[in-house]
Amino acid sequence: MDNVIRISSMVNAYLVKGDHTYLVDTMVPMSRKKLYAAMHDNGVSASDLSHILLTHYHADHIGNLCDIQAKGNPKVVAGAGDVPYIEGEIKPPAPSELSRAGKVLRKMPGLVEKYQKCKPGRVDETVEDGMKLEELGLEIVALPGHTPGGTSYVDRANNRAFIGDLVSNYFGRLGLPVLSSSYSLEEIEASLRKLAGLDLDYMYPGHGRIIGPGASKLVDRLIGKKF
Ligand SMILES: [Zn+2]
Repeated sequence: MDNVIRISSMVNAYLVKGDHTYLVDTMVPMSRKKLYAAMHDNGVSASDLSHILLTHYHADHIGNLCDIQAKGNPKVVAGAGDVPYIEGEIKPPAPSELSRAGKVLRKMPGLVEKYQKCKPGRVDETVEDGMKLEELGLEIVALPGHTPGGTSYVDRANNRAFIGDLVSNYFGRLGLPVLSSSYSLEEIEASLRKLAGLDLDYMYPGHGRIIGPGASKLVDRLIGKKF
């Protein structure tokens, strides 16, 4: 079974070592040293990566994509709906009005733009729901709601998945994605149902601790909960 190593600061990246060595998400530019140090400690350099799987376009997940691409030649995979943002064709939208914080942040465009600022990278393989990455033994399950092209990478053989920001697990408490940077509560709920229905043991979130065992059952309890 592939070995999954969590690299965490305010956001998680996962280094997976097995037949292929790949990275899921790339953290914020501020965490670049930490990311490379963790890779180095595990005997991996940027040029060893066969793939980078992106869960979504937010700057705290694609922040070092460009830098890694300059050092190696990993195949970069991302969900169709998020590719134009990752490649810099479309600017990220203003904070949404789904939460009070979003409404406040909308009045501070300078601050938001500074946070969202991120060098665009290049996507090599655009994926959609139901597709497979055969060489990695992963299936694509689209999870829209936080971002339009939010993508999870599901390892059915081992009942686990990388799920991006759809569910967070700060301090061992499951929660919804940050609503000020999400666009649809209805789609978030539909995506939660999808995750709950996958009967997964472990989920690897973009923020907080690894979820599980019994991850899908834990996610099921989130559905319909008021936050
Ligand atoms: Zn996000």
